[in-house]
Amino acid sequence: MAIERTLSIIKPDAVAKNVIGQIYSRFEGAGLKIVAARMTLLSRADAEGFYAAHKERGFFKDLVDFMVSGPVMIQVLEGENAVLAHRDLMGATDPKKAEKGTIRADFADSIDANAVHGSDGVEAAANEIAYFFPALNVYSR
Ligand code: UDP
Repeated sequence: MAIERTLSIIKPDAVAKNVIGQIYSRFEGAGLKIVAARMTLLSRADAEGFYAAHKERGFFKDLVDFMVSGPVMIQVLEGENAVLAHRDLMGATDPKKAEKGTIRADFADSIDANAVHGSDGVEAAANEIAYFFPALNVYSR
């Protein structure tokens, strides 16, 4: 089993619902360690840069509007097969299709306000972690 890191964002809707702790408990319960964390209000430039791969999609502007609508909690998770383990905890992008017991099934309202982000591969994870955290501020343990 490979020890990986992945980037997690608790989005503005879930921060507003006051469920950061409940989501952190799910990470810890699945053996994922929080090795960096920061609460921040993203600028439009931050959000547009982060989601640059989606900039031609029809939902891009709404997605950026949503991501800057309130503070987000950003963290790096570390553990065995962290990328996939985290995606499993999150559930499908559309909460209506997310499996019972997943974060999105339990805390998300819609496909646009869907509670959490998680890197979708090891390479994306490395890029996304570097986007938000200088290496010195990631505390591998
Ligand atoms: N999104 C949306 N409408 C769509 C598809 C995606 O608003 O029809 C948003 C949603 O917030 C999603 C994000 O764009 O989380 C990134 O989409 P992706 O397909 O990468 O889903 P994810 O990896 O977040 O499950």
